[in-house]
Amino acid sequence: MLQRFLLGLAAPLALSACASVPAPPSASSPSLYDTGMVSAADPRAAEAGAEILRKGGSATDAAIATMLALTVVEPQSSGIGGGGFYVRGGADGAIETIDGRETAPAAATPRRFLGADGKPLPFRTAVIGGRSVGVPGNLALAAKAHAEHGKLAWAALFAPAIRLARDGWVLSQRGHDFLQRQPDTGAHDAAGKALFYDAAGVALPAGARVRNPALARTLETIARQGAGAFYQGPLGREIAGKVAAETPDDGRMSAADIAGYAAKERPPVCGVYRAYRICGMGPPSSGATTVLAILIQLEPFDMAALGPDSPVAWHLFAESQRLAYADRDLYLADPDFVPVPVQSLIDPEYLHARGRLIAPDRTLPQALPGRRDLARAPGFGPPENGTSHFVVVDRAGEAVSYTSTIESAFGSGIMAGGFYLNNELTDFSFVPEQNGAAVANGVWGGKRPRSSMAPTLVYGPDGKLVLVVGAAGGATIPVQVARALIGFIDWRLPIADALALPVLYSPGDTVTIEQGSKLEALIPALAKLGHAAIRKAELPLKTNAIAVKGRALDGAADPRSEGRAISQ
Ligand code: GLU
Repeated sequence: MLQRFLLGLAAPLALSACASVPAPPSASSPSLYDTGMVSAADPRAAEAGAEILRKGGSATDAAIATMLALTVVEPQSSGIGGGGFYVRGGADGAIETIDGRETAPAAATPRRFLGADGKPLPFRTAVIGGRSVGVPGNLALAAKAHAEHGKLAWAALFAPAIRLARDGWVLSQRGHDFLQRQPDTGAHDAAGKALFYDAAGVALPAGARVRNPALARTLETIARQGAGAFYQGPLGREIAGKVAAETPDDGRMSAADIAGYAAKERPPVCGVYRAYRICGMGPPSSGATTVLAILIQLEPFDMAALGPDSPVAWHLFAESQRLAYADRDLYLADPDFVPVPVQSLIDPEYLHARGRLIAPDRTLPQALPGRRDLARAPGFGPPENGTSHFVVVDRAGEAVSYTSTIESAFGSGIMAGGFYLNNELTDFSFVPEQNGAAVANGVWGGKRPRSSMAPTLVYGPDGKLVLVVGAAGGATIPVQVARALIGFIDWRLPIADALALPVLYSPGDTVTIEQGSKLEALIPALAKLGHAAIRKAELPLKTNAIAVKGRALDGAADPRSEGRAISQ
């Protein structure tokens, strides 16, 4: 049944073979802003990007340096063992997106995450080991982006990350907490155990200095030889070998899977919310379509007049999410395998009609997908926090919004070359069929799992860039971004305050209120409006943004994170 969605494997694009060749120095561009800026989830990574801007690098160069530094200092979240999405806005307003999503090995089958009894595997069983690892995409993405928009030499982008890995970096409280909470992946591999745990298996304390010479060597090799050293060299073979050795059944990763990986340019997905043009990442990410649906369905309501303290505003936000996620769950998947009706899903007429289903004084009895012409897709797993978002704006006006991930904390637990390998394949549906129909996001060889990552650019009514934003946090990502945009556009909040707004997450019939937030006080009012299931929970929230104000940049990081915005 899955075959009817199989549109054919895209032929892998050749990796940029000249990735290690220094880019020619470009003529200095006129400056649009007084400074360049980077906002990332870790100050050391933001500083790595800012250092590259100071050296004359473009926003693309700085974003790559930030991604590499995050591999070192935030090993639980993202890195070269995982994938990501890059959304770039040029100074000329041209928007471009690159898909560096991880890919299932060619031999993967739709039953990959089913047990011998035909039932879906428990989530952690699926995560740990080789079954969950997709071919990493971040370095191919970086090479492609650099070939098109890099100003500094490829090797220069690696210098800050190599320094951090070789000379050491201080483990943060958050890093320590992840090691302590997640030893099943953090210490799964002997290399991870030796790096981050003491002889008794106890996680290193916050404040400990960590050196990662294996990662420094890996980065030096890729800096010198280009991304091909990762995909077509001994490292690729080591990754395939380690992953295959820990994959229990068939469907093992091969060196050919890694050698054939290609980052893909995808069409940006754009829509207009109250005269602001919002652009982001399309399939295989559900990011942009979901953010646009949540927002545009709310256009008939005067969110500005309601304001951030109104229970009705948060009720409308919850209802809009229910409708948006119903469509997301059904339709969004890898567009090379499944026809994803992107334009239909973000059509303003369609979304306004969906918005008219929302009532300010009661809840919808059922939030169903709006176009039921494709197979039913599944629900989604628990939100995890193995991701990092960062944004860069350079003085010349180039903006990059990049989300990088290894999926859950410490990914699959398997390490190669000093970094953790992702568990991104658990973003596929574990269930291949539902009600006799193939699930759009089912596993298939060479396919990319659906993502929620939503790197976003926002242009004001005058067409000028006003905001670069994105988040980590699994399926909560589109909600975090939509909430920041409502705060910024409707409630006119400074970007730092918009990121500090609480989150209410309502992808189905349960409303989850961010624990400890002021939304807890609204629970009785929300219950009166008909929300039957309301729970409080700690949500994995981590948003980063840069707002533009004339020639000035205003960077912000989620106050719940250790993130920071740093000027050039
Ligand atoms: N793997 C997730 C996705 O691509 C992101 C995980 C996270 O943010 O923690 O949607």
